[in-house]
Amino acid sequence: MTVQDIARRIRDVPDFPKPGIVFKDITPLLLDATAFRRAVELMTAPFRRAKIARVVSIESRGFLLGAPIALALKAGLVPMRKPGKLPAERGRVEYALEYGTDALEMHKDAVSAGDRVLVVDDVLATGGTAAAAAKLVRAHSAEVVGFTFLIELDFLNGRARLQGERIEALLHYT
Ligand code: AMP
Repeated sequence: MTVQDIARRIRDVPDFPKPGIVFKDITPLLLDATAFRRAVELMTAPFRRAKIARVVSIESRGFLLGAPIALALKAGLVPMRKPGKLPAERGRVEYALEYGTDALEMHKDAVSAGDRVLVVDDVLATGGTAAAAAKLVRAHSAEVVGFTFLIELDFLNGRARLQGERIEALLHYT
């Protein structure tokens, strides 16, 4: 099972959710247990010895990858969610979108000061979401060790928004 085998299971959906966007659909990968398992292993591998205490996964496709990665690293799993979804005391970060703003929330008791955190999402696009996630983790005095993505859209240069961060991505689209 090579990286190319995994890439073959990502479906491009043009003009979703709006015209001009090519949506990277990971559901064919999720259907194939061997390929999904391999993708999770490869996303986890760079951080195996990084003493990760918490895996922060970003709603909603990040949850699908973050959960098996947290189990593989024997780390706690933290859902970072859109506003209004988490029931207990929350921290919040707002970030700019093309039009307007969005926000992410995390339970205050999900990370402790000094916790070593890995941030997981399916796609790194412009980097705005990942940068906001890191800000929220750091606002709780935890340490962002790095990010692991299944897919990086290199042409959107999200890495520039995450300067100084450790970023791993399995599949690259140029
Ligand atoms: P960004 O903040 O621009 O890096 O966008 C990242 C978030 O939007 C991630 O949570 C992705 O799931 C989602 N996303 C952005 N672009 C795409 C795309 N082309 N296909 C699938 N998901 C995307």
